[in-house]
Amino acid sequence: MTTNLFDLSGRIAIVTGGNGGIGLGIARGLAQAGASVAVVGRNAEKNASAVRELQLLGSAQSCAIEADVTDAGACRSMIAAVMQRFGRLDVLVNNAGINIRKAPQDYALEEWQKIIETNLSSAFVCCQAAYPALQKSGGGKIINIGSMTSIFGASFAAPYGASKGGIVQMGRSLATAWAKDNIQVNAILPGWVDTELTRRGRQDVPGLHERVLARTPAGRWGVPEDFAGIAVFLSSRASDFVTGTAIPVDGGYSTGM
Ligand code: NDP
Repeated sequence: MTTNLFDLSGRIAIVTGGNGGIGLGIARGLAQAGASVAVVGRNAEKNASAVRELQLLGSAQSCAIEADVTDAGACRSMIAAVMQRFGRLDVLVNNAGINIRKAPQDYALEEWQKIIETNLSSAFVCCQAAYPALQKSGGGKIINIGSMTSIFGASFAAPYGASKGGIVQMGRSLATAWAKDNIQVNAILPGWVDTELTRRGRQDVPGLHERVLARTPAGRWGVPEDFAGIAVFLSSRASDFVTGTAIPVDGGYSTGM
């Protein structure tokens, strides 16, 4: 038996939105710790490139699943495909997410719904679908990706903030319900991270870059690699008594001015 608390050899993980940004940073970390990772995304090219990278890191069994997480049927099929291929599931990372920046009064209902469906409803559907698979594995880990807007309001992200507040509270409910099944459910709350999601805001919003640097005690933007360690911890037996938490990974952004 391994003495490495963080060893994920033989573990099977799903990372939604694992083909880029924070999700790929997480997938790389899990692969390097020994897990086989199924990356989920809509873009087949990005999926293929991510899988090649994970395989080069030594995670030979890693694979891609092309799916849109706003399609509940596709989420259920994704879990079924992993069960068929690997026969077990140990870790589900609900990371896929989008934002549309607007003042609250300007959102169309369809935009609100799209954000809530992508960031929150999809995570719930994936958790529901994963539950029997995790039970069958004798337990497992769910990691939901929140945001600083899980804690703070944001004047140009009302639906995004609602989805990210919801993801923390949903996770706490699942953590409470499924602790008896040895399933731990936790959230990671990223600060400002340099990815596709924030690149446009960085270009379009004057002064954003400087404000992020000034407000972040670490004095820099996060990078996808910053999420590997926390994801490995929350996926490993090192975190078996940690559940229902929401852990900021933000260079100190949420600790105060
Ligand atoms: P990116 O835009 O870089 O990546 C988003 C990922 O989600 C892509 O892999 C994309 O793949 C996937 N995705 C989006 N919509 C869908 C969908 N409908 N179905 C399947 N996959 C989808 O964003 P980040 O890496 O920055 O964000 C990842 C998570 O972190 C999100 O939940 C985001 O809200 C959160 N976050 C990010 C912060 C940041 O500063 N970057 C800060 C706080 C939280 P594809 O295009 O192939 O579908």
